[in-house]
Amino acid sequence: MKDIISVYDFSKSDFDELFELTDKLRNMPIFPKILKEKTVALAFFEPSTRTYLSFNKAAINLGASTIGFSGEEGTSIAKGENLADTIRMLNNYADMIVIRHKFDGAAKFASEISEIPVINAGDGKHEHPTQTVIDFYTIYRNFKNIDGLTFGLMGDLRYARVVNSFLRALTRFKPKKVYLISPPQLSARKEILEELNYPYREVIDYNEVIEEIDVLYVTRIQKERFPDESEYEKVKESYVVDMNLVSKMRKDAIILHALPRVNEISREVDKTPQAKYFEQASYAVPVRMAIFHKIVGE
Ligand code: ASP
Repeated sequence: MKDIISVYDFSKSDFDELFELTDKLRNMPIFPKILKEKTVALAFFEPSTRTYLSFNKAAINLGASTIGFSGEEGTSIAKGENLADTIRMLNNYADMIVIRHKFDGAAKFASEISEIPVINAGDGKHEHPTQTVIDFYTIYRNFKNIDGLTFGLMGDLRYARVVNSFLRALTRFKPKKVYLISPPQLSARKEILEELNYPYREVIDYNEVIEEIDVLYVTRIQKERFPDESEYEKVKESYVVDMNLVSKMRKDAIILHALPRVNEISREVDKTPQAKYFEQASYAVPVRMAIFHKIVGE
């Protein structure tokens, strides 16, 4: 596997292998140094905490050195350097590039001019494939499988790239049903819905479906992607997961969130058994180590 640009780069058996490999890596006292003498460039043109740090840590665990930046400030991008020139330069300094960028398609573009592997760590409102592997691994840990479950994706289904990757990745499995819960202004994109090969329904009021849901995937309203701030103001508090909502959920249901959360999940929900978003974040390093294994082919 040279590049990882979309979740469509993973087959069903790739997902199964990644889950197994992550299980193994989590139990290893010492990690195999498959990236020894290698350099991983972390080219983060947009802010990041978890993704940047966990890719960094995963690379170091496997024996690599890392170079890079998080945010355009302090780089020549601030002087107007274009993406193509930055990628060409990184080809001289590194063996692999992990890229995050505000433009949809930036990772694909980078992979086309790069001789070395490129991993998409989030491109605009398009995709965030490695986050989905973390999301699915968390589901796999909690339910032992993905098939047969009922999902509810709630919040900003229009601009959240994690939603696009999640919905697309589900086409590799057999979900029972997927509820897309959002205000009409933030509904999932038509081009994504057209690709889905499983039963789904768009819903505005979560009360209609909450009792059926096994996995509630909550998203942050993606303020930075709104073309107009006043549009954001209208929808910013569309849904809040609070104790009242949790009381309506099944006892064995789980709540996921890619983080960062703003106010879409109340702090008091954190201590409920359904809250799995910190467990989810804890899998970021081993899952990304497994992803590096896929790229290296070992
Ligand atoms: N951290 C995730 C992303 O980069 C989710 C979010 O920002 O809301 O897409």
